[in-house]
Amino acid sequence: MDKPIIFCDFDGTITDQDNIIAIMKKFAPPEWLPVKDGVLDQTLSIREGVAKMFSLLPVSAKDEIISYVLQQAQIREGFGDFVAYTKKHNIPLYIVSGGIDFFVHPLLEPFGPFAGVYCNESDFSGDTILIHYPHGCDSECTSQGCGCCKPSIIRTLLKNDATSIVIGDSITDLEAAKRADLVIARDFLIEKCEELNIPYEPFTNFHEVMDIIDSRLGVKL
Ligand SMILES: [Mg+2]
Ligand SMILES: [Zn+2]
Repeated sequence: MDKPIIFCDFDGTITDQDNIIAIMKKFAPPEWLPVKDGVLDQTLSIREGVAKMFSLLPVSAKDEIISYVLQQAQIREGFGDFVAYTKKHNIPLYIVSGGIDFFVHPLLEPFGPFAGVYCNESDFSGDTILIHYPHGCDSECTSQGCGCCKPSIIRTLLKNDATSIVIGDSITDLEAAKRADLVIARDFLIEKCEELNIPYEPFTNFHEVMDIIDSRLGVKL
């Protein structure tokens, strides 16, 4: 078996719910809804859509937004055991997230360190929240609007002989899933995999993820 490398999404995968959606539901004016729909039906790029949604939020609400998002987030069952499992088997675990630094880093902190954590960055220096994308698309990305470009990150990190495992739940994982050796999916990513005939294994918690990796790659506890 080739050495596996895991690329795991954050929002809706490590956390039960999508934290950007939670923030928008609580703090954004109704204009955020057509933006979200545009991202999901791929008429608007993720990069543009996320920037547009956060531009609806005043920086004066910064403290309230941060404390709300941190207190409402729930970590999915089995994630701590899963992190221990990857460490025990020396499987690199990269977190690749279209989420934002101010909630991704604090929520992951109790479980780290990881092989790497990639996410978008927030800027509170203006009137409304500005999002920076330090991990944009490389020239090979066919989307060019990912925001945090998961396929570009995977291309940089993946060694030739490694087996890539992508774990995710939504549209931001699709480009990565198209190129992965093993896709472990839930929710909207399952619908997209079905639609595009991408083989996947479904999961609802991280104990199932460990079982899938065990049985598919022969990693034994
Ligand atoms: Mg997600
Ligand atoms: Zn991209």
